[in-house]
Amino acid sequence: MFEHKGVHGLGGRGASRGLTEPHIPVGRHPDGAWLFAPVGSMLVVASGSRVVCHGCGEALEAISRAHAGRHGLDLAGYRERFGLNRKTSLLAPTLAAARAAEGRRRWAGNEGVRAGLAVGQEMARSGALYVLGAGAQPVGGRRAQGRVPASAEGASPALRAHREARVAAARARWEARAVALGFADLAAYLDDRVASGASAHRVRTELGCGGTVAARLLVERS
Ligand SMILES: [Zn+2]
Repeated sequence: MFEHKGVHGLGGRGASRGLTEPHIPVGRHPDGAWLFAPVGSMLVVASGSRVVCHGCGEALEAISRAHAGRHGLDLAGYRERFGLNRKTSLLAPTLAAARAAEGRRRWAGNEGVRAGLAVGQEMARSGALYVLGAGAQPVGGRRAQGRVPASAEGASPALRAHREARVAAARARWEARAVALGFADLAAYLDDRVASGASAHRVRTELGCGGTVAARLLVERS
């Protein structure tokens, strides 16, 4: 593991994350810039809770898009510059494990989402049937007229719940696919596919979603 010892005056920026150790280069990039982590691998510090940025030595929970941006790079550019292949996680192991656990939890919770979906469908069905029945009452029946809006109102939240349950179930499914593909979560998967210029068709195949959704997911993360 990399030891923050034998200090010289390069540090300071780590203080922004509560780490006060100065940043010590491990070598130089072929273009002459200092390297703070070895090319080709991630330097993990702080018992797995941080990774060291190759470009500046800052110890971070992850090399984020925003952080890479501080070096004028996107995530694909960061990987390329520092010789990291697509399989190498840019997350500290602690964060990667937490995200994977969260993905599994959501996937397990999908059972509940499915149950909610069934209830929503049943409510929507009965609500719709009720409206239909009330509408079939003879015109001028005051009770019948009064009941139509009330039951329509009742059906609306059920339909909304139905829709929300469907969206949540789909998200959980994509999230689980992303984890199964070796990513920490859906966002990490999408970042990778955006960075590598993957087609919507590929994302659609990998996530098992529709083509329109795949295109939208890619755009959202671009
Ligand atoms: Zn950096």
